[in-house]
Amino acid sequence: MMKQKELTFGLLENGLDFIHSAIKYLINPSNKSDLKYGILHLSAGVDLILKYRLSKEHWTLLFQNVDLANKKDFDSGNFTSVSSKTCIERLKGICSIEIDDKSAAQLKHLRDRRNRLEHFGILDSEIALQVAFCKVLNFALDFIEDNVEQEDFETIEREILEEIRSSLGKFKGFISHRWNTIKSEIEKCKELNMAITNCPTCYQDALVIDDGVKCYFCGYSDDGEKAANEYIQNVLGISAYSTVKDGGEFPLYYCIECGSESMVHLDDGEKGGWICFTCGFDWDESDVCFCISCGSPHQVDVDDIGMCDDCINYRLSRD
Ligand SMILES: [Zn+2]
Ligand SMILES: [Zn+2]
Ligand SMILES: [Zn+2]
Repeated sequence: MMKQKELTFGLLENGLDFIHSAIKYLINPSNKSDLKYGILHLSAGVDLILKYRLSKEHWTLLFQNVDLANKKDFDSGNFTSVSSKTCIERLKGICSIEIDDKSAAQLKHLRDRRNRLEHFGILDSEIALQVAFCKVLNFALDFIEDNVEQEDFETIEREILEEIRSSLGKFKGFISHRWNTIKSEIEKCKELNMAITNCPTCYQDALVIDDGVKCYFCGYSDDGEKAANEYIQNVLGISAYSTVKDGGEFPLYYCIECGSESMVHLDDGEKGGWICFTCGFDWDESDVCFCISCGSPHQVDVDDIGMCDDCINYRLSRD
C-alpha cells in the first residue's frame, strides 16, 4: 500500500504527465480525436496539480467532505475527492494562494469545455483550443513555480516540466502567426468603427460585433444574446447558476439602444463600462446607471433624476 508521501508525489507526477500528453495531442492535431484527448488530459492534469498543492497542506483536504476524512479510505483511495471548484476555494481560503479572476474563469471554462465534450461531443475550433491551452499552460507553470518547493521535485518530474516549458513557446508561436494573418482585417473593422471585444471562446481581442458576433481569430460566431451569455461565463467567470444560488449580479440586461437582451455590465474593478453584443454600442461606466424605481439600466441625462423614461412616464401618467 502506498504511503501518503508516495501518493502525494504521485499526484504531481501524474498531473505533469497528463499535461505533457495533452501537449502531444494539441501541438499538431490531425483529427477531432486528438483535440478531444488534448482537452481531457489538460483538464485532468491541471486538476491533479492543484490537488497536489492542497495535499501538501493536509491530506484531509483532498476529501470533498472533510468531516468524512479518515486515513484508511485515504490510503486505499476509496473516497469522494474534492471537486475542482472546492479545490480552488480551499487553495485560496486555506493555503492563501492567489488565483486571479481571469485565470479562475479560464480554468472553469476548461472544465465546461470538458463537460460539453463528454456529454455532447461538442468541440471548439483547433486554434481556439490552442489559445485556451496556452493560457492554462501559462497558469499551470506559474502555479508550479510559485507553489511547489524545488526540493519536492523528483528527477522525472523535473524533466517533464522542462519539456512542458519548452512547448509553451510553440503555442505562443501559433497565436502570433494567427494574429499576423488577421491583423489587416481587424484594422479594417476598426476603421469602420465596428465594436471589437474579447472573444468568449479564444479570449482574443478579435470579436467583431455587427448584428451578431464573429471572431476573426478563431471563427466563433453567434447571435448577440448567446455571445453575451458566453462572454459573461467564460471571460468574466460569472455563472448564471451560481448567481441564482449564491446571489450576486449576473450582469446581463436589455440593451438601452437596441432592446436585445445582450447588454453586458463590465464591472471587473479595472475598466468597468457597458457593451451590447448585438448592436455593438458601448458606454463608459458613468454614462449608464440603474433606475432607482425598476432597477433596469438607463443612460444618464444632464438633468437625470435616477429614474428611467418608462418609470418617469408611468408616474406622470398617474398624476
Ligand atoms: Zn475567438
Ligand atoms: Zn444593443
Ligand atoms: Zn425604471
